[in-house]
Amino acid sequence: MTKATRQKTAKTSGLERDAQIVITGAGGFIGGALASYFRDQGFTRIRAVDKKPLPHWYQHISGVESLCLDVGKEENAKRACEGAVEVYNLAADMGGMGFIERFRIECLRSILINTHMIEAAYRAGAQRYFFSSSACAYNTELQKDPKCRALKESDAYPAMAERGYGWEKLMSEMFCQEYTAERGLKTAIARFHNVYGPNGTWDGGREKAPAAICRKVIEAKDTGVHQIEIWGDGNQTRSFMYIDDCTLGIDLIMHCDELVATPINLGSSEMVSINELVSLAEELGGIKLKRTYDPNAPKGVAGRNSDNTMIQRILDWQPNTPLRKGLAKTYAWIEQQYRDRKAGRRTVRDID
Ligand code: NAD
Repeated sequence: MTKATRQKTAKTSGLERDAQIVITGAGGFIGGALASYFRDQGFTRIRAVDKKPLPHWYQHISGVESLCLDVGKEENAKRACEGAVEVYNLAADMGGMGFIERFRIECLRSILINTHMIEAAYRAGAQRYFFSSSACAYNTELQKDPKCRALKESDAYPAMAERGYGWEKLMSEMFCQEYTAERGLKTAIARFHNVYGPNGTWDGGREKAPAAICRKVIEAKDTGVHQIEIWGDGNQTRSFMYIDDCTLGIDLIMHCDELVATPINLGSSEMVSINELVSLAEELGGIKLKRTYDPNAPKGVAGRNSDNTMIQRILDWQPNTPLRKGLAKTYAWIEQQYRDRKAGRRTVRDID
């Protein structure tokens, strides 16, 4: 198969420009970016849904219908999916390690979101359904060494997922697979590895490592207290995917028939340690900070990277924004947010 026939996006898949696209979690980071992505592609009927009140959404996208609904409730999921042709479920109660290690019940309860959304999508006659899974679905036994090998799709089973959050993702993946097998709904399942970029949480407890580290460097510069606290020993490794790669990857995976009901990694394969991530943020800030380490802070698995053999083979593509480039954009955005907050202007924020 040639690249052109393999790589289909919503635009080239034959999807009508006025087809109803539904995106849940659109008040958050990735869902918001996805709504903006489809709007820029020329789609005219996008319904963005989130349980957060509208003033707290990270992005307000003109021309997009925005609904405040808790789709963990059946009747709201039905309302969200009315007339849907494609449904992208990015809603979840989640955050960085600090959140998912502490609030396992909240993470598990996200099972209600996917359970109701996939049934509502099916009943509405949707053609395709996307589920945002996570690398946290992988067997944690394989992630005990910072230098462990990259995770490939078959590494989820035998299962020993991250407690709470990871098990919910694994179970919801199975829902998707069974809706395809028993009811013929075309489902797409991407296992995201850490995603970062502008318009995401950067403070308040749900933020992830790249945003947290940028913020700490910016804070240190601003306050003159030139030190930084790092969770764990800083040797834990991860890979980080820039948001633009994530939105394009979602589109490509959703419209690839070879990938129906088939979980696939969507992540960068550029592995770095948290110490290296700090060095990069320091470079961007033009400062060197004294490092302190908190061994008791949540730190997650010792090592994790994305094996991109499958996505490269099937889509002839993989996330490719260099961390340095993506982090520079993210750092600049957080710095602006920090200044805006200090000046009393509106910023991205979370409510509980
Ligand atoms: P986010 O927290 O920024 O966005 C999630 C949104 O879902 C929030 O705005 C929240 O209000 C909304 N939500 C939660 N419960 C809801 C409900 N019952 N009804 C309606 N909306 C609800 O998170 P994100 O980073 O944009 O993540 C999006 C998806 O990607 C999630 O499924 C997440 O588990 C997955 N994921 C993200 C990452 C990452 O690094 N950001 C990594 C792996 C997987």
